[in-house]
Amino acid sequence: MTDRYAVFGHPIAHSKSPLIHAAFAHQTGQDMTYEAILAPLDGFADSVAAFVAAGGRGANVTVPFKEAAFKMAQRLSPRAERAGAVNTLSFAADGIFGDNTDGAGLVADLTRNLKRTLAGQRILLLGAGGAARGVIEPLLEQQPATLVIANRTLSRAEELATLFGHGIRAATFEATDRPFDVVINATAASLAGELPPLSPRIFGADTLAYDMMYGHTPFLDFARVHGAATADGLGMLVEQAAEAFYLWRGVRPDTAPVIASLRA
Ligand code: NDP
Repeated sequence: MTDRYAVFGHPIAHSKSPLIHAAFAHQTGQDMTYEAILAPLDGFADSVAAFVAAGGRGANVTVPFKEAAFKMAQRLSPRAERAGAVNTLSFAADGIFGDNTDGAGLVADLTRNLKRTLAGQRILLLGAGGAARGVIEPLLEQQPATLVIANRTLSRAEELATLFGHGIRAATFEATDRPFDVVINATAASLAGELPPLSPRIFGADTLAYDMMYGHTPFLDFARVHGAATADGLGMLVEQAAEAFYLWRGVRPDTAPVIASLRA
């Protein structure tokens, strides 16, 4: 029987995950389907339970259900535990396993696709929501020289700095005005077509500005005008999907052709 997978979100119609996983399945010869499921805002657990009862083997979880998925999982990977959020569920006879592949996806895109070494680098992470939280530990594993978390609400950045330790510094956007090697926008500002109040001095001649959102964003325009190299989050999206695919199927798809075809 063909194995069933899905992505749950609200909204979900925009999701590229079904396309990405269909491409992975085709490339690796896996017998599986992958659909997008719109879960009601107050009905995530019931939607997942219905999917499992109908034979679902695994799922991705996107906005706004990553914390609900974290609570639903009976077992967690260490990286999901630290992130406090789950974007990948695996349904097995011994219960629901939760993982978080967002951080691994970001690091894979930065290091493999964009050829950036993160060790010894000065990294600025903008935002302190679920996306930021999920990438902190994988970024720290790369041993950067500095990790600064800047957020509109300083207390949320301070909470994350305390939680993860390792000398992470918390700051406001306004107080951050020295050049960084890599600046990662993990705020939801791009979704609203907005630019956080950033100083152009965070960008130097060799800075890579990375927006977790994909496509054209005010942050990437601003960074480009101030001399930074730029990249959007499409590579991260495909890499986090590849990591989930590997968890479910034990096979690593080749991400490069999938990124290229989505760009085209
Ligand atoms: P959350 O709602 O959890 O967090 C939102 C964050 O953005 C908070 O830090 C918030 O600040 C900040 N913020 C919101 N609006 C503004 C604004 N106008 N100006 C400045 N800061 C703002 O969202 P997520 O963390 O889940 O998602 C953030 C982004 O990451 C989204 O664009 C999402 O699409 C993207 N993402 C991309 C992925 C990929 O694979 N490419 C994977 C996961 C996420 P405050 O604390 O002050 O409210």
